[in-house]
This record gives sequence, C-alpha cells and structure tokens, in this order.
Amino acid sequence: MRGWLIEKSDAGQTNTLTEIDEAGLPEADVTVEVAYSTINYKDGLAFTGKAPVIRKWPMVPGIDGAGTVIESRHKDFKPGDEVILNGWGVGETHWGCLAEKARLNGDWLIRKPTGFSAYQTMAIGTAGYTAMLCVMALEERGVTPEKGPVLVTGSGGGVGGTAIALLSKLGYEVIASTGRADQESYFKSLGASAILDRAELEGDPRPLAKERWAGAVDSVGSKTLVNALSQTKYGGTVAACGLAAGMDLPGSVAPFILRGVTLAGIDSVMAPLSRRRMAWERLDRDLERDKLELLTSVEVPLAKAEEMGQAIIAGKIRGRVVVNVR
Ligand code: NDP
Repeated sequence: MRGWLIEKSDAGQTNTLTEIDEAGLPEADVTVEVAYSTINYKDGLAFTGKAPVIRKWPMVPGIDGAGTVIESRHKDFKPGDEVILNGWGVGETHWGCLAEKARLNGDWLIRKPTGFSAYQTMAIGTAGYTAMLCVMALEERGVTPEKGPVLVTGSGGGVGGTAIALLSKLGYEVIASTGRADQESYFKSLGASAILDRAELEGDPRPLAKERWAGAVDSVGSKTLVNALSQTKYGGTVAACGLAAGMDLPGSVAPFILRGVTLAGIDSVMAPLSRRRMAWERLDRDLERDKLELLTSVEVPLAKAEEMGQAIIAGKIRGRVVVNVR
C-alpha cells in the first residue's frame, strides 16, 4: 500500500511517501480502505516534528480518515460499510490514515453520517468535530444567543472557522478574532458579525477586564485564552481546545471566583463514542453545506500531505484541507 511513513534516526526525522508492507499494519479488528484524510494542526506537528505527537516509530501519520471496510472481525462492521475515524491516538501511537489502508479498532469507528459524503467528513475532520464539541460545551453551560456575543479565536483555522459557521447558524452573534483582518468578507460569509484583530488579545492580561463575551471558543491558548477569560461576562463559559499560540496559561483565578466564569476543557482524541456520535449528528444538522464548502480551502493528492502539514504550522492554510488518498 502507498502511504506516508515517518521514521526517526540519529540524523533526525524523515518523511517518505512510499510503498509500505501491509504486514506492518498494527493488530486491530477492522481494515479500512481509506478514501480521504485531512491535515489537522496535529498532522502538521507530526510532519514537522515541531512537537512530539508521534510516540511510536516508524509511524504512518493521519489522525482522521474516511473510507470503506474491507475486512472485519468486529461485530458492528462488515466489508462495504462506510466509516470515519477521528483521533484515538491514531497517527500518534497507532498507524494512521495518510495511507491507502488503515487497520483500526472497531470500537473507534463510527458510521459515516448519511448526510455527508466521505469527502465532506474529512472537510470537517477532527478540527470541525472539535468545534462542535466546543459549541456543545457552551450550550450545556447555559450560553444562549440572548446572553450576548460569543468570541471565536483562531478564526482563520479549521476549528475557528467551523465554530463561526455553527454558532451563527444557531443564532449567536459571533466575533471572529484573527490575524487576517484583511479577509473580513470570508469571516462574514461564514457568519461572523464582526472581526477583532487578534493582537488585541495578545497583550498581557489583566485579572479582570470589561465584560464583553457570553462565551468563547478558543483554539489559541496562552495570553489569548487568558484575555478571553478576563473579558467573559458573569456566569459565562470559555471552551478551550487549542494551543496555536502556546500551552501556557498565564492568568489569574479572578474570572472564576469573582464572575463565576467556567473554563471548559475540550478533548476530541479520547472523547467517548456516545459524545462523538452526538457531535456528528449535530454537525449533520447544524453545519450549513455552503459554509463547509467555503471553509474547505483545497483538496490535495496524498503526495502533497507533507507540504500541507508544513503550511498549516506556518499559518499559511485558511480553513480546511482534504487529502484524496485514492
Ligand atoms: P489551524 O492551524 O487550522 O488554525 C489555527 C489558527 O490559530 C490559525 O489559523 C490562526 O488563525 C491562529 N494562530 C496560529 N498561530 C497563532 C499564534 N501564534 N497566535 C495567535 N493565533 C494563532 O489549526 P486547527 O484549527 O486545526 O487547530 C487549532 C488548535 O486546536 C491547535 O492548537 C490544535 O492542536 C488544537 N486542536 C485540539 C483538539 C482537541 O481535541 N483539544 C482537536 C483539534 C485541534 P488566524 O490566522 O485567524 O489568526
């Protein structure tokens, strides 16, 4: 099978698109012929080696995949079933989906939602599914459209862009924080009411600032997340899923203890199956297809996956990238 193989030696990391011996596929109960994959931020980290996301070598990268079951020993799946995979350590500790075949644990798979094509599920990918988890976290903590505007950070990215589309469809006023203020029409087409220059959230945070947001979806972390917390209104919630600017949290407990603000942590990788199914059902219902198309910046062949991984880390990708594996 053709696929990307990331290897490590004393000389460093090498990424090769090569013919991989299928005998090397990991032990698991379902074999999938992969049709599409995608490039998430984490795939970019794997290709560039910028953070240690790969914990087993050699590794086939690709944390997301959509395809058709070709062999199964799992009770819920048979050859011909269309499935999707997001996370579970695939592409980190278990060979992933940037290859023609993947052998996966059936307990990780979900059936492709009927409302989406395989291509569309990868246009959404982990980034879009995580955006949905963030929106669900706000809803579950009582952030309703009447409570006020919702801030989305990292808006030019996959998580941020999908969050804007979802929140606006659900009736929220969305403020998009971005370093691409020159692309206002894109953000407004996704559903943002206004743009905020991301530099405004990058300064040293005060313990409490003027109350602006009923809630926030943050994929940036660091000072941006702390500023979002300090600007969140009494009783609001910030859903934090990312670290595009850093993993640190240089802040104060003031928003929590003086304004009852909630910091909701969002993890997509180990989220239970029931939560994933719920998120994909909600995506099917609430993600407008024309906005998904707008979010999908490019479809590339497998050969371009590494280049796209480097580009996402360099901040050169807007929205989402689909990788056509066939
Ligand atoms: P993208 O690269 O598509 O988007 C990240 C966006 O963040 C960029 O487009 C940019 O937006 C902004 N950004 C990048 N660098 C900086 C910086 N130094 N300072 C401020 N803003 C910056 O990535 P994804 O949307 O796929 O993922 C976003 C984050 O969420 C990543 O950290 C990723 O690891 C994390 N993530 C976490 C998941 C989880 O399970 N918790 C699942 C999925 C993603 P703009 O140009 O508009 O400013």
